[in-house]
Amino acid sequence: MANRAYNFNAGPAALPLEVLQNAQKQFVEYEESGMSLMEMSHRGAVYEKVHYETETLLRELMSIPEGYKVLFVQGGASTQFAMVPMNLLRAGTTAAYVATGSWATKAIQEAKLFGDVAVAASSEADAYKRIPAAEELKLPSNPAYVHLTSNETIEGTQWTDYPDTGSVPLIGDMSSDILCRPVDVSKFGLIYAGAQKNLGPSGVTIVIIREDLIAKPEGAVPTMLRYDTHAKADSLYNTPPTFAIYMAGEVLKWVKANGGAAGMAARNNEKANLLYDTIDSSGGFYRGFADAGSRSIMNVTFRLATEELEKQFAKESEAQGFVGLKGHRSVGGLRASIYNAVTPENVQALAGFMRDFQSRNG
Ligand SMILES: *Cc1c(COP(=O)(O)O)cnc(C)c1O
Repeated sequence: MANRAYNFNAGPAALPLEVLQNAQKQFVEYEESGMSLMEMSHRGAVYEKVHYETETLLRELMSIPEGYKVLFVQGGASTQFAMVPMNLLRAGTTAAYVATGSWATKAIQEAKLFGDVAVAASSEADAYKRIPAAEELKLPSNPAYVHLTSNETIEGTQWTDYPDTGSVPLIGDMSSDILCRPVDVSKFGLIYAGAQKNLGPSGVTIVIIREDLIAKPEGAVPTMLRYDTHAKADSLYNTPPTFAIYMAGEVLKWVKANGGAAGMAARNNEKANLLYDTIDSSGGFYRGFADAGSRSIMNVTFRLATEELEKQFAKESEAQGFVGLKGHRSVGGLRASIYNAVTPENVQALAGFMRDFQSRNG
């Protein structure tokens, strides 16, 4: 594959080349079934095998304990911003949120449509350059749950030590860092993630929910937006996004073949260190956006002295085959998204470009 771009897209994002090639082989006819996987019933044995294998692999790779359900739903993580409070926020309780950046803010805004919301900690005053320390969390008197955004995709910050919230369920939006490293799932009541950053194509959203949190919600909640609907039906209440679930399964096989969650952590730390070292050793030419202790190993955000120079960096990098390095329109600057599937070779190429760009413009 001669013309594969250096893909640093924020999402949808790079997928492993082997996964794409294998899916291509299976695209027109899936395992001698006489048809594409996309053409077959989601109630048939062939698809069901894919469905349950994907779930089993996710359970294995994330070491999901007994007592949790894995759901495949649609609507993206953005729909989870609503489903979490619709299902878990009850009258007389308050939903607590940690305000860490752009995605946390969207989750908070959505939750406010459904009930009482409190901000338990916030780094807004520091321009969301850091993740609050666990000690900063102040819970309201009757908390329904505590919601955090594990990785702020736009600002480039990431939690390392999740807070211990005791008997209050901890909810994690892991859309942009699921399976980037080992995580103790038992700390969480619920984890959700859109697939299109670390797990596959867009179209499927993973929900991992502790069984005691699956209950009939208060008030009128549409059937499709209830966790109990999907839990009871093994995510086959209606037609699931079959091809996206198949692709997620193929990505999970790749993760397993490459050392599982621990293997991903080693690979991701190596990639992130290389870029942060390039930034830190540039004598101030590149300036990391996130505070050193809150840096993300998934989204590396940085700035140059002027917006003019940032524009030039984006333009020249594009001309050399690098894709997706412009920062999100809401914060500007530059961002390299280095999810699981982004290869160390591509990150080395980017570090080389950064040094070269500095030598020409520094
Ligand atoms: C991308 C992203 C979302 C939104 O995901 P959609 O699937 O587009 O709804 C939410 N949270 C985080 C942390 C993200 O990175």
